[in-house]
Amino acid sequence: MKGLPSLERAVVVLSRFPGVGPKSARRMVYHLLRRGDEAILDLVTALEGLRERIRPCERCHNLSEGALCWICSDPSRDQTRLCVVEEPSDLLAMEKAGLFRGVYHVLGGRLSPLDGIGPDALHLASLESRLQAGGFVELILATNPTVEGEATAHFVAQLAESVVARVTRLAHGVPMGGELEYLDESTLYQALIGRRNFRFDP
Ligand SMILES: [Zn+2]
Repeated sequence: MKGLPSLERAVVVLSRFPGVGPKSARRMVYHLLRRGDEAILDLVTALEGLRERIRPCERCHNLSEGALCWICSDPSRDQTRLCVVEEPSDLLAMEKAGLFRGVYHVLGGRLSPLDGIGPDALHLASLESRLQAGGFVELILATNPTVEGEATAHFVAQLAESVVARVTRLAHGVPMGGELEYLDESTLYQALIGRRNFRFDP
């Protein structure tokens, strides 16, 4: 390592973040050094908080600061609708959309046999027990529209088949603000397959 070892180490660690290259990592480090001890302590305290307090929700595997996450412990959520997502960040994206008032199950990834991720690597056993316990009228498959996400959705659908009356999948389609001529074929194909009656209530 060239330069000051402590500084270079911080650059290496920060550049491991998604979307952060060595150049922006270096900018972050210089920024912290410029702002002094207080800024660095703020960061350290925030990171320690992550390590000490954040853990998986015992029911849905969302990130939580207690045994149950803020969704599982909210009595106003509809306990009869279950939405299955890959990661806690997908759950947050769904929550941002603001329409879904049910509860979640976070799988912790998606099936990817080529990467050695089989059913045992995901939170499928706990999902199965939740489904078997009954009480769900709808299961929403909100895994990503990728080959692995689709395979995972099919796998989960099979688990739910005999116990949940309605199994639905997020529609794939034309993004808001998108233009047809710029869409790839498979997106347009899926949008056409998933077409629905116009001016129909969702
Ligand atoms: Zn939870």
